[in-house]
Amino acid sequence: MPKIKINKERCKGCQLCILYCPKRLIKKDTQLNKKGLYPVNFIDGECSGCKFCALVCPDNAIEVFK
Ligand code: SF4
Ligand code: SF4
Repeated sequence: MPKIKINKERCKGCQLCILYCPKRLIKKDTQLNKKGLYPVNFIDGECSGCKFCALVCPDNAIEVFK
């Protein structure tokens, strides 16, 4: 099953990936990153590997592995 990897230190918490994931597999983290921002987390689930999350991320913080 595809998986995504989020670079939390690159993430600025804009939540675009949350908005665009059709499977709702990304959520806001509760811990701040080193920039003092709340990054996002991947929720284990049935990721389709569509890559929408990676494509909309303005900071290249998401990689999708199939
Ligand atoms: S690859 Fe698609 S289904 Fe998987 S987490 Fe990203 S947006 Fe969601
Ligand atoms: S789109 Fe990128 S920068 Fe924005 S919350 Fe998602 S991973 Fe972080």
